[in-house]
Amino acid sequence: MTTHLSSEQRQQLGKVLRDREQTLRAHLKALYDGVSRVDHAREILLQDGDDAPQRDADREIDMAVSDLETVELTRIEQALSRLQHGSYGECVDCGDDVPFERLALEPHTLRCVLCESKRERFQPRSASM
Ligand SMILES: [Zn+2]
Repeated sequence: MTTHLSSEQRQQLGKVLRDREQTLRAHLKALYDGVSRVDHAREILLQDGDDAPQRDADREIDMAVSDLETVELTRIEQALSRLQHGSYGECVDCGDDVPFERLALEPHTLRCVLCESKRERFQPRSASM
């Protein structure tokens, strides 16, 4: 299988992806360890009737961050597997080449700019409602 990317470009993007994958995995692990510690601390504090609501808010922020990072990690894994199978750099929706410049900015991207913007239009972020 051939792509429009040179082997140097694929290697470069693969390295960025693997580095990012490791960073995310380490961070998510720390986050989940932190969450279980918070749970444990909360159990103790609840017995004293302490400020549980504030702790819930902190926890929600952690969970929101971890959701985002889990999504990114999934996309990175998909990108790495596509890199392995030679289909990396092709838009998963229309099959067009995704330019190297775009991949360099966002190596885990799976779509060309056009398809990505279409998706975003059909799935508006709640903030823009
Ligand atoms: Zn496309």
